[in-house]
Amino acid sequence: MSHICVACGTQYPTSDNPPRNCPICQDERQYVGPLGQKWIALTELQKTHRNVFFEEGENLWGIHTQPNFAIGQRALLLQTQHGGILWDCLSLIDASTVELVKRLGGLSAIAISHPHYYTSMVEWSRAFGGIPIYLHEADREWVQHHDSAIVFWSGEKHSLNDDLTLIRVGGHFSGFQVLHWASAEGGKGALMTGDMPQVCPDRRYVSFMYSYPNFIPVDGATVREIVGKLEPYRFAKLYGAWPKFVVEGDPKVALRRSAERYLRAISDLDPLGAQDSPVA
Ligand SMILES: [Zn+2]
Ligand SMILES: [Zn+2]
Repeated sequence: MSHICVACGTQYPTSDNPPRNCPICQDERQYVGPLGQKWIALTELQKTHRNVFFEEGENLWGIHTQPNFAIGQRALLLQTQHGGILWDCLSLIDASTVELVKRLGGLSAIAISHPHYYTSMVEWSRAFGGIPIYLHEADREWVQHHDSAIVFWSGEKHSLNDDLTLIRVGGHFSGFQVLHWASAEGGKGALMTGDMPQVCPDRRYVSFMYSYPNFIPVDGATVREIVGKLEPYRFAKLYGAWPKFVVEGDPKVALRRSAERYLRAISDLDPLGAQDSPVA
């Protein structure tokens, strides 16, 4: 049977007994709740939860498990000219989810920002014929369910094709990656960030934490580095981790405004750095 950690949603390889613990939750970027480690089988999760689809943007669908499960992120289905891409992932996958994704054009690849959203990635890959799962090499140690579909890339950026680029921003995890979709929004571009940066509730600001549940911030140098890495890319929308947590208008201005606010809050008064002209 396949065991899923109830706190982080990570699926482990099939075994009779659950693993002794969940390394993702024992790490200080997640947590083990006061009642201890809990597991659920995928077959049980399929009985109690369902995935809801909703439009998040142009050719862009949000998929969210309800009622809320584990961390509660939504995955994004990008309908691109090179096929469907699943950005970030969910623990729950069932027959109706697969059917609906196929009706929306299917999937050709999966890419996941960081280990908190690895969830049932291997199960998703297999449901669509063993499609590749793109992860950053620097987070290899956090993969709990290894599979030949996983493609580890290294370095600072990796193009899936001429439209989609994975960018390593780091911060929350060493291999934390975001996805830039150049042709989205009528060619103005979109950025999928998951947790780094994380979209704030007012959708005008983002923030940068090493651990969200344990409120451990990153340092100023990390914030400057992230802003610098995203500076060359054009994007008219920035998609965070939760349903409808999207920065519109001018998310690049919001990113700088947020970084400046963050640096002021930690009394780091060095300037943010030069603003380059967009190239991608
Ligand atoms: Zn866990
Ligand atoms: Zn996270």
